[in-house]
Amino acid sequence: MATPRHLPLGERLLILRATDKFREWHSLDDKRVCVLCDKTFSGRQVEMTLDRFGQVELHCPTEGCKGGPGKWVYPGNPLVSEIAYRDWQRALEERNSDSASTQLSSAA
Ligand SMILES: [Zn+2]
Repeated sequence: MATPRHLPLGERLLILRATDKFREWHSLDDKRVCVLCDKTFSGRQVEMTLDRFGQVELHCPTEGCKGGPGKWVYPGNPLVSEIAYRDWQRALEERNSDSASTQLSSAA
């Protein structure tokens, strides 16, 4: 069975909303920054594949990047935007989930 990479645009948005448990998608023009490869992309560019159980998986559109929804933050400069800063912090915490929580409390 072939993998439907290019789904109808309406379905793409529904799939993004259903599959990305981390952040809200308001439209396919919403932008995300992948904290792994530092690239900005829109909902249209998100790679969608089906696993063997028929579950949709979202992938960073950058070739070779393993980033998924948990690694995608809202665009914005984390140095000037409180919301962007927290979002980055959250995504980076997920990457180092072993020790990040204790480091965070002692740094505060
Ligand atoms: Zn990426």
